[in-house]
Amino acid sequence: MARTDAIVLGAGIVGTSVALHLAKRGLSVALVDRAGVGEQTSYGNAGIIEGNTIFPPAFPFDAGALLRIAFKRASEASYHLSFLPQVMPWLLAFRSASRPERIAETARLIRPLFSRAVAEHEALMADAGATHYLRKTGWLKVYRGDKSFAALAPEFALAAKFGLPLKTLDTTGAQALEPSLNPVFAHAVFWPEAASVSNPLGVTRAYAARFAALGGIILSGDARSLHRTGNSWRVETDEGAIDAAQCVVALGPWAPDVLGELGIKLPLAVKRGYHRHFRAEGNAGLSRPVLDAEVGYLMTPMEQGIRITTGAEFAARDALPTPTQFSRIIPRARQLFRLGEPAEGKTWLGSRPCFPDSRPVIGRAPGFAGLWLAIGHAHWGLTLGPATGRMIAEMIAGEQPFCDPAPYRADRFNQRAGVNSRKS
Ligand SMILES: Cc1cc2nc3c(=O)[nH]c(=O)nc-3n(C[C@H](O)[C@H](O)[C@H](O)COP(=O)(O)OP(=O)(O)OC[C@H]3O[C@@H](n4cnc5c(N)ncnc54)[C@H](O)[C@@H]3O)c2cc1C
Repeated sequence: MARTDAIVLGAGIVGTSVALHLAKRGLSVALVDRAGVGEQTSYGNAGIIEGNTIFPPAFPFDAGALLRIAFKRASEASYHLSFLPQVMPWLLAFRSASRPERIAETARLIRPLFSRAVAEHEALMADAGATHYLRKTGWLKVYRGDKSFAALAPEFALAAKFGLPLKTLDTTGAQALEPSLNPVFAHAVFWPEAASVSNPLGVTRAYAARFAALGGIILSGDARSLHRTGNSWRVETDEGAIDAAQCVVALGPWAPDVLGELGIKLPLAVKRGYHRHFRAEGNAGLSRPVLDAEVGYLMTPMEQGIRITTGAEFAARDALPTPTQFSRIIPRARQLFRLGEPAEGKTWLGSRPCFPDSRPVIGRAPGFAGLWLAIGHAHWGLTLGPATGRMIAEMIAGEQPFCDPAPYRADRFNQRAGVNSRKS
């Protein structure tokens, strides 16, 4: 049996950032994963560091949008019918959190954390020699119709209040930024303070390498072996048991597998999403991520090609992939951009771990000494990984957290509202 100051369970972008921040504070840390560093959800995302986020995605109140989703005609959202009864309590809580006054409150609560997102990545990238992955070229969102653009007024008002810059553009203005876009849209919004990365896996691996260079140890093991022994937490690894006074659960969509065993029930569901890489035709290219807002997909230039990512699919985490959204998305994407052949044969599936109020849980596990949670980062795990890592490390080290952790406490939930989205 070996002993460290802290164990971090899960080596996605969140757990790796937590481990690195702890190591930077001089703690001895074991980072434990059953797979390779950064290879799960943190591998396949759209690569955007969304420091500009104001409103999280909301439940649609518009009857037309709901009907399109219900009849599976929407490309931005899909579902497995058999999963609906299981996820219904979560959907109702999500709907309630999407009411205008609640979502405006969420925007206010999350701003301090999101406003640090790009700077916290930049600090870790400088430390880890990963700055070459960073593109500080903003994010472009295009709107094909007037209605969806007009609906952005409340977001623009809050952006002005928060001092968050944006630029509204017509087709020609957007094409000045991205000359390869075809004029199939009427409006665009450029968010200059968002950033993106050309290889999310490369970023997480670079942070892990820096962690190891600081003396951190990366071990293969199953987090489900976590248990209390005396005053410590113990996890079994391929190198034997590791004990530590502090343990951080950063298992993304798999957190319920461990927390459920401890009797900690939190309303974590998954919004599954897919990606596929394409080559660009001829000399077409992109300098930044582009969201085709009404159609509901993203195009991001990556080292592997143009990565197309889909919106949400409500299905059991471990259910077989059903990437049907692509058949609707790809013809529309080809209208906007000269997409060539797929760069590889297979479609990637990942699961965004989501709480219904769209805020992660970052902080102590109520009722368990030395147990910490860094989970539920939904659409923003890449964005918030380093900021989360810093916040948790500051709390564990007894420092003043850089922003108020109260909005992220686990005990904000009614403990009975749990959803287990693991089985179909
Ligand atoms: C299609 C899509 C697009 C997205 N786009 C963006 C974006 O542009 N920007 C953004 O900020 N976010 C985006 N996200 C969200 C982001 O990818 C996630 O929020 C983030 O990756 C979650 O990170 P994590 O470290 O919490 O989880 P993960 O990366 O899933 O890490 C969890 C780790 O736990 C390990 N694990 C699980 N079970 C066990 C076990 N029993 N024992 C040991 N280890 C275990 C896994 O192997 C894994 O490595 C997107 C997500 C999807 C699906």
